[in-house]
Amino acid sequence: MVLFGPPGAGKGTQAQLLVERLKISHISSGDLFRHHLRAGTPLGLKAAEYMNRGVLVPDELTIDIALEKVMSMNAEEGFILDGFPRNRLQAGALEEALQTKARNLDKVVYIDVPEEELLRRLEGRFVCRKCQAPHSIPADRPADPELTCERCGGELYQRDDDRPEAVQQRIEVYKSETVPVLDFYRERGILADVSGVDTVEQIHKQVLEALGL
Ligand code: AMP
Repeated sequence: MVLFGPPGAGKGTQAQLLVERLKISHISSGDLFRHHLRAGTPLGLKAAEYMNRGVLVPDELTIDIALEKVMSMNAEEGFILDGFPRNRLQAGALEEALQTKARNLDKVVYIDVPEEELLRRLEGRFVCRKCQAPHSIPADRPADPELTCERCGGELYQRDDDRPEAVQQRIEVYKSETVPVLDFYRERGILADVSGVDTVEQIHKQVLEALGL
């Protein structure tokens, strides 16, 4: 399946809940790039130039690393894609790659959140360095150097691309390049809409319903 939605919709949070419940793999293209960046690989350093500006990393760098992960799955293994595909070309490349293994996406779950709410959320988003779990820290909360992850105790940090300038840019890129992917999946009859403005648990319930579970 694909978890689809704008930056800040809660795809990462919902992916984690699905991973725990369904015991399937989570493939996040953003996490793959950040992993490369931490390891200091040429790919990571190149990708960071784009990520820090809030624009898409070029397809020739993105499609290979995302599809390599997808294609390494055994036929009986389920997976959740998060952050990929982000344009029509990537959606087409994914479809072709899956077809070579006689596989198909079961569902694309679109988590819809209004823009003002996204801006508010991204401003207060902190991520665990160790397990990547997202956390929401209210903007008016005093700075606390001891902020740690609720799941694993790792250090929390704010992503460079969650700074206000980059956030606005990412939302514009989402609207112009990623939203057209919705039609691609609507035409294939596998798109399900879920409102992303509710409690994490309620959204999880809606996602499970959309998956027929
Ligand atoms: P994310 O963690 O999904 O918000 O992704 C962070 C950044 O990584 C994005 O703003 C892009 O610069 C880059 N990125 C992640 N996934 C993709 C993708 N499928 N295509 C192009 N760039 C991507």
